[in-house]
Amino acid sequence: MTTDARWASIDAFAEQNRENILRDITRLVAVPSVEGKPEFGKPYGPGPAAALDCALTIAAELGLATHNDGNRIGWAETAPIAAGKEYLATITHVDVVPEGNGWDADPYTVRLRDGWLLGRGVADDKGPGILCLYALKYLKDSGAALRYPVRALLGANEETGMTDAHYYVEHYPQPVFCFTPDAEFPVCNGEKGGFSGELVSPVFIDGVIVDFAGGVAVNAVPDRAVCTVRAPRSALRAVDGVTIEPDPADPARTVLRGWGKSGHAAMPGGTVNAIARIVDCLLQSDVCTPAETAYLQVLATLHADTAGQALGIAADDGVFDPLTIVGGTIKMENRCLRQSFDCRYPTNTDADKLTAAMRKVCGTAAALENVSSRVPFYISADHPAIQILINTYNEVTGEHKTPFVMGGGTYARHFPLAVSFGPEHTDLPLPDFAGPMHGANEGANFDKLIEALKIYILALLRLEELDF
Ligand SMILES: [Zn+2]
Repeated sequence: MTTDARWASIDAFAEQNRENILRDITRLVAVPSVEGKPEFGKPYGPGPAAALDCALTIAAELGLATHNDGNRIGWAETAPIAAGKEYLATITHVDVVPEGNGWDADPYTVRLRDGWLLGRGVADDKGPGILCLYALKYLKDSGAALRYPVRALLGANEETGMTDAHYYVEHYPQPVFCFTPDAEFPVCNGEKGGFSGELVSPVFIDGVIVDFAGGVAVNAVPDRAVCTVRAPRSALRAVDGVTIEPDPADPARTVLRGWGKSGHAAMPGGTVNAIARIVDCLLQSDVCTPAETAYLQVLATLHADTAGQALGIAADDGVFDPLTIVGGTIKMENRCLRQSFDCRYPTNTDADKLTAAMRKVCGTAAALENVSSRVPFYISADHPAIQILINTYNEVTGEHKTPFVMGGGTYARHFPLAVSFGPEHTDLPLPDFAGPMHGANEGANFDKLIEALKIYILALLRLEELDF
């Protein structure tokens, strides 16, 4: 427990606002905000725009100044920030991922069960967004003179491209420091680089592969894939994790189904790639044309391991975890196969090296297309702002944690000086009725959210005292 003189007031404010916070999270979750077709003035479709409007309405009710820039990004602030004035910021997002399957009840109606909030966005990232608004309300109502006014940014496109943050960084002066409550506690002060793209086959003439489909997202290891080949059942070898059946529509064709174990591209340990199993089966059966076989060999190299060893791109800098790479999706388009990949890399390699190594593996059998990359980002854990966040977290929780680095990407990397700061607790086991971020029955522990609010308020007050 902290001995900070401001604690009693912060604690009382958060406890007294429990019901209000629950009500406002419920209101915001009730606005479905998956990205939709752009409409005039609503670049991410009607859902994210409506959720941004809802969040700003809540902010205005709390007495905060608000602004909406074209339904891309909006904000609440303790006071209007004059041009050239240095300011602090938080950034959360009001858009969500699709609800998916497996919910026990309506994903957009918040339920409270055994101390857990359940609903799409309670953890990622509408619950944290409401916390930031209440943190600003505390700062404003306390009447304290704020050396740095605070802006709570609310993005509307985090889940599908972060163009909201790109837009903000291009059009507005940057905060002296920013934290994003869109990850796990305690403090994440580094994110790996990212490198993604597609391995594209040549146009297959008189190919054996009729169709090949697998995966749901570039950044996830697929647990299912299916491939149809123009070859009899008897020509195909049995391979672990592949079921083989004749195509009911055409006896000359065979359908292969691959079964794996899914997982996030940033943490592929323990996953099994369903596409890889089918590739294996096709190569072992030796049924494809030479061009197809050459392309499948490139895919086999990609899928051989998630450390990039077979591709010759493995890297480990001792700061981040070692490089990872997974093949997320495959599809057949205009008689070409397109296999996507998602690589997360540490600081001792770069996009040029990765491109060169992958081109070498491709040779003439495949082409590297639609490559995009982002450099790793890292702020020293000794930075005084990071020290404030980690110390505040440890004081309030009684824990003894240290900042960590990760493979995922948050808003933080887009700002000159920013980190992610909670509010998830990965060491707190989810009850069996609750699911993770992006999953069914997405859950957030309500007491921990209230505790996070206290941490955010105290951290912001301490950041006010820092010379940036
Ligand atoms: Zn998020």
